[in-house]
Amino acid sequence: MENANSLFHPWMKQNDFQGKKITDADGIYIWIDGKKCFDMASQSINVNIGHRNSEVIRAIQEQCEKLPYIYSGFSNPIMDEAARDVLGVLPNIYKKVYFTNSGSEANENAIKLARMYTGKQKIFSSYNSYHGSTIGAGNLTGDQRRLACEPGQVGFIKFNFPDKYHSKGQFRSDKEMSNFYLDLLREQIIDEGQNNIAAIFLEPIIGGNGVIIPPDNYLEGIREICNEFKILMVCDEVMTGWGRTGKWFAFEHWDIKPDIITTSKGMTSSYVAFGVVVVNEHIAKYFDNHVLMCGSTNYAHLLGCAATVASIKVYKKLNLIENSELLGKLLNVELNKMKSKYHSIGDIRCKGLFAAIEFKDNVMGKRDSVNIAYLINLLEEKGFWTLGRRNILMIAPPLIINREQLLESLNILDSVLEDLYMKGS
Ligand code: PLP
Repeated sequence: MENANSLFHPWMKQNDFQGKKITDADGIYIWIDGKKCFDMASQSINVNIGHRNSEVIRAIQEQCEKLPYIYSGFSNPIMDEAARDVLGVLPNIYKKVYFTNSGSEANENAIKLARMYTGKQKIFSSYNSYHGSTIGAGNLTGDQRRLACEPGQVGFIKFNFPDKYHSKGQFRSDKEMSNFYLDLLREQIIDEGQNNIAAIFLEPIIGGNGVIIPPDNYLEGIREICNEFKILMVCDEVMTGWGRTGKWFAFEHWDIKPDIITTSKGMTSSYVAFGVVVVNEHIAKYFDNHVLMCGSTNYAHLLGCAATVASIKVYKKLNLIENSELLGKLLNVELNKMKSKYHSIGDIRCKGLFAAIEFKDNVMGKRDSVNIAYLINLLEEKGFWTLGRRNILMIAPPLIINREQLLESLNILDSVLEDLYMKGS
């Protein structure tokens, strides 16, 4: 379709933009060109509290009327409240926050903070990861979205993140797999000069590339390596934070505490564009006597702060973290039922209300290869909207979804897969 629009649409050829419109959204639903659909990806896996939450909208409105903006050389009660509330949902080793306007920008600033604090330069991150679209975050990114940042900045090193499904039984246990990847990483660190490395960035559960959950002991092993070589461990919780995986933050599924956490998306459910870098007390203290060479005009924007405070209240009031954990178990069971029914499903990966269905290559009904865009269109026609990538379908509804709604939405998925695989189409 010819794009007559004056607006760029990210990550696509502009002529491929279909021109669909969302003009209304409410709770777990969106209306696409007037058709009501379950929002099974919470838009970009960010609208965790659902659409048009009146309490958060009111808090933003009130802040806007009171005082929308002040320069960051000053303080204001809502800034302090937002910082305290973010730290309040984290273990108490974290002492300071640096607010940003996006997840990419959180990672940009985390790179700078890590370099300033350690005095070291190199940054490790994994293939198959996504950390953002700006130059620094793009250099961290391990998937092909990095390529627009090529040839890449000096000092960004990639390592392989263990992927249970694609390693196709090469390892007898999680422990064996973790040890294999940890040994490789240790060698790589030594070869890169163990005293030159500022930080290892990783998504504790790889998100956009398909909910890749690391094997047992892997993140603990990374933590040990970081301690051994005095490297900072940075967890990118932009997508996995804020209850998405059934804990406030995904790292809490393991016995680890990263030194730095970056997050965004669910923090305000994107009611305001906002992100944050959270640091432990050692890093926080360092900047008492060293200049923090970071800043931006919209730093700690008051509307973002108000949205953060109000959103955290909503998470607590509606028990959204618990709901994600509980309904995540149901989601896992239901998706695995579909896996046993449809042999084209290769893998189900699910943690909280964060799931991926990975289809086997070259099998999709009568088609030659998996065509996720085709499946997504079929689903949308039946009122189930979601995102997909390569041969992976994401399922990540707003955390306010209830049991009946979840089952109703999964029924749509099941019936579309049945039409595809059982009846052929
Ligand atoms: N990090 C992760 C893990 C993400 O999933 C994303 C976005 O999807 C980002 C960083 C970038 O965040 P933003 O799009 O807000 O810049």
